[in-house]
Amino acid sequence: MTTALKTRTGLALRGVTLTYPDGESRLTALDAVSLEVAPGEFVAVAGPSGSGKSSLLAVAATLLRPDSGEVLVDGRDAGTLDDRSRTALRRERLGIVFQQSNLLASLTAVEQLLVLESVRGGRPKAARRRAEELLESVGLDAAKRRRRPHQLSGGERQRVNIARALFGEPSVLLVDEPTSALDHERGEQIVDLLTRITREHGTATVMVTHDRALLGRVDRVLEMRDGRLR
Ligand code: ADP
Ligand code: MG
Repeated sequence: MTTALKTRTGLALRGVTLTYPDGESRLTALDAVSLEVAPGEFVAVAGPSGSGKSSLLAVAATLLRPDSGEVLVDGRDAGTLDDRSRTALRRERLGIVFQQSNLLASLTAVEQLLVLESVRGGRPKAARRRAEELLESVGLDAAKRRRRPHQLSGGERQRVNIARALFGEPSVLLVDEPTSALDHERGEQIVDLLTRITREHGTATVMVTHDRALLGRVDRVLEMRDGRLR
């Protein structure tokens, strides 16, 4: 599986509506949201807490099925796929960095990436080299690559999360509040890293944030309010 063999057109959401059960009725988290992100483009989605930003990423990540509307990843309509094909689409084309870091406490940084490869059944030696290179490219030196999560700073853990999301050579990179646990300067460094990754890997990148100070650094900013995107 190499990037060159993938047709890449990025991410498109068309008229996506998502509701959650809310007592007797339903809460509308996403209200007819449409969005297109091209390969190599870095888009930020800003908006207050509870406006639907994480819901948007969960739908784009094909982890939640919308009530209506379409989610297209490289032109493939996730809504038409059965669970197995959706899982394959996610594994092959989507890189996801969740708001809460879900690194495994017992694994080193390199192992966090390799655990995926052992599931995929790839070649161990090539995978290890690739994991080391990716971690190097996000700024972790050889010593840090051998540390476990509790021996890394918040910013370094976020870098591991990002490298792990890149391991499958995704077309679409989805990042939820990557700077929320970091001070401003480290937050800027993470956003600059995401900019470089977007250019170098040609990913269609969507970053969700409520930190308005970071918005000057991305290609396009969209505002989320009460489940609507502007
Ligand atoms: P944000 O990421 O912008 O803070 P969310 O997408 O997490 O917003 O939430 C949008 C709205 O949906 C909020 O009102 C939230 O309470 C509600 N919500 C989120 N997840 C669930 C869920 N699993 N069940 C019910 N309501 C939810
Ligand atoms: Mg959120």
